[in-house]
Amino acid sequence: MIDGWRFFVEGVKKDYVVDLEHQKCDCGVYAVEKISCSHAIAAGSYAGLHISTLVCHVYSKGTLFAGYSENIYPCVGQQVEARKCFPPGREEIKMTILIGAI
Ligand SMILES: [Zn+2]
Repeated sequence: MIDGWRFFVEGVKKDYVVDLEHQKCDCGVYAVEKISCSHAIAAGSYAGLHISTLVCHVYSKGTLFAGYSENIYPCVGQQVEARKCFPPGREEIKMTILIGAI
């Protein structure tokens, strides 16, 4: 621990300074993704913080629900077409139901 929020974390090949208050780490991942890197998790665990408190609030359920709490309309003049969407690598499964006497 350097001070209340900053921690020195020894890595395998390199050492890192983690600033939990500003959500930054020398590796750069924490500042960009706003999701705690392994160094931040180590520092947070040492400090006794729950991992969920280390992630930026934009990933919280409250923020997600607020983002989709109202209807989202297409922009004026935007063409909207109806189409089916499937997960990548999946195609529509056509089902045939056979009805008849067995
Ligand atoms: Zn890191």
